[in-house]
Amino acid sequence: MSASAVRLKHFGWGREGEGLNADEEAFVLARAEARFGMALTESASAPRLDEIALAPPHIAAPPSLPFCTDGHYDRAAHTYGKSYPELARGLARDYASAPDVVAYPRDENEVAAVLDWAGSADATVTPFGGGSSVAGGVEPRRYGHKGAVTIDLREMGKVKEVDKTSRAALIEAGTYGPALEAQLRPHQLTLRHFPQSFEYSTLGGWIATRGGGHFATLYTHIDDFVESLRTITPKGVIESRRLPGSGAGPSPDRMMIGSEGILGVITQAWMRLQDRPTQRAGGAVRFMDFLTAARAVRAIAQAGLYPSNCRILDPTEAYNTGAADGSVAIMVGV
Ligand SMILES: Cc1cc2nc3c(=O)[nH]c(=O)nc-3n(C[C@H](O)[C@H](O)[C@H](O)COP(=O)(O)OP(=O)(O)OC[C@H]3O[C@@H](n4cnc5c(N)ncnc54)[C@H](O)[C@@H]3O)c2cc1C
Repeated sequence: MSASAVRLKHFGWGREGEGLNADEEAFVLARAEARFGMALTESASAPRLDEIALAPPHIAAPPSLPFCTDGHYDRAAHTYGKSYPELARGLARDYASAPDVVAYPRDENEVAAVLDWAGSADATVTPFGGGSSVAGGVEPRRYGHKGAVTIDLREMGKVKEVDKTSRAALIEAGTYGPALEAQLRPHQLTLRHFPQSFEYSTLGGWIATRGGGHFATLYTHIDDFVESLRTITPKGVIESRRLPGSGAGPSPDRMMIGSEGILGVITQAWMRLQDRPTQRAGGAVRFMDFLTAARAVRAIAQAGLYPSNCRILDPTEAYNTGAADGSVAIMVGV
């Protein structure tokens, strides 16, 4: 994916131009009104770019780093992730924590160059994948320092090498879910890691947050797939050895997996893969309530059936999504 492709929205989910159509919006509003038992007449509007006031940047990147920008869109779009408090502050047009500079490095040398410059400019650095964090992980924090720099990895989005024999691939950290699977497809391989945010999140983000796949039976956490990692830190490179498996001491990868970007920028990883399924079937089953559905899920899991996806929508969620009338739970399985 390239920075010149259709931009991610500066606020909200997805790319610019995407969203609910009028019918879908009316449907969601009607369901919400039925749920709250009242007409919902007031709504907070998403901030337009020209409504977002940003303080002048406290620092400026040198000309030797031409992949850095202090553009208005870039700073606004990298201020928040997708947690509810961040959403609320965005709606309130509060963009006080916007980064001063956003970098889009194309390789590890450029990542290292940004870290070097940020250190000398007294700036904190925040790695950024797809910005789908729901834990406040991408909001820049200055901690008393002068500036804040965000490193967006989107330009590092390639599957660099595929080892079909060992079913593994070397993948750059900024690779978004769909681009990752598209590059593995010609090899008949899949990572089979499908968080609900798959479309707008990256391999580096999955590793840094210790993500769990929405396709979650058997292999659930990204940990299961990481063979080795390469991370650029302000002090140098940390790279773990690529081994099929190791029982030697504490795992260095485990230090990085779930580190939320505080130890360095993960740039690439060797990931274990699986063959793509050749057959697929899915279905939805109605249950009278959530607990009855949960018993069915337990029976499926304990039988070792391992459907790739097995999920219950409780009656309220099934109603909100339009899958049922609110009186039944629904189990979906693939
Ligand atoms: C609608 C929705 C559904 C979701 N569903 C799931 C789900 O099913 N399972 C799940 O686990 N999570 C889910 N999430 C949470 C989120 O998508 C995950 O945490 C995801 O792994 C974040 O990936 P990202 O690329 O968007 O990372 P970002 O949000 O950009 O970053 C997340 C954190 O990782 C750090 N980081 C990102 N890239 C790097 C890197 N290369 N090196 C070092 N640090 C880095 C950031 O600094 C930040 O702390 C969901 C979120 C939303 C909004």
